[in-house]
Amino acid sequence: MAMSGLFDVTGRTVAITGGGGVLCGGLARYLADCGMRVAVLDLKRLAAEVVADAINEAGGEAVGIEIDVLDRDSVRAASQTCEKALGRIDVLINGAGGNHPDATTGPDKPFFDLATGAFEKVLGLNVLGTVLPCMEFGRPMAERGEGIIVNMASMNAFKPLTRIPAYSAAKSAVKNFTEWLAVHMAKEYSPSIRVNAVAPGFMLTEQNRFLLTDAATGELTPRGRSIIEHTPAGRFGADEDLYGAVHWLLSPASRFVNGICVPVDGGYSAFGGV
Ligand code: NAD
Repeated sequence: MAMSGLFDVTGRTVAITGGGGVLCGGLARYLADCGMRVAVLDLKRLAAEVVADAINEAGGEAVGIEIDVLDRDSVRAASQTCEKALGRIDVLINGAGGNHPDATTGPDKPFFDLATGAFEKVLGLNVLGTVLPCMEFGRPMAERGEGIIVNMASMNAFKPLTRIPAYSAAKSAVKNFTEWLAVHMAKEYSPSIRVNAVAPGFMLTEQNRFLLTDAATGELTPRGRSIIEHTPAGRFGADEDLYGAVHWLLSPASRFVNGICVPVDGGYSAFGGV
């Protein structure tokens, strides 16, 4: 292989769930800039279309498609719509996910009183919401013997974080499932199918803003301050910070990389706190 092509992803097609959100919306635009054709998938159809429109206006090729990653029929329909619109899907990025305030402990919300439904919702969105797209988008990859999947884990996949038991358990399961599926696809179908994950550190987005900043003043909460103190980079991350790691995992440069979870965390996971 010519070394100049190591990071070339031009002409490949990627489907991104949660593509209407902050991190994956940015990622969708970046991958389109790299020459990829993009299916932007989200529960919020309008949000997906806004991202796809921005890509098309900038000269790229994208479609916005509604999906509910918790509904098998919806995932199957979305995968068929993607193929009709863009042809073969080479890459799946599972970005839909997140935490919920009702599954978060606090001074007036002891762990013992957390609602079962809230716990189930967070586990469902992050775990099943990753598994179902892997089934529907993974099947044609298995049939062709080629494909790339990238899942979205988190820092709490390595060590649970205080206050968010459901989200921590869920992302830990996403990392474990990534390893399982990497081995399953390679051994049962083809070593040319790779499954990896990225574990973003603390990026300030809508799903964690309520934990990291004070809604009234916009100031950092004690938790937000503690995170910055424990992040050697000295700041929260942004969607741009993820682009390089994901690009690498989608490109031939990572062709011998399978079943790993890459921290993109400003050094958070390396720091013992002293
Ligand atoms: P976000 O809330 O901006 O984006 C998530 C998107 O998923 C939203 O557009 C939402 O509409 C969509 N979604 C929700 N439920 C869905 C469903 N059932 N079907 C389809 N789409 C659905 O969140 P974000 O911060 O951009 O996070 C993106 C991913 O990165 C998530 O998996 C999140 O858990 C993970 N992550 C985020 C951080 C962070 O600090 N922001 C850190 C680690 C991991």
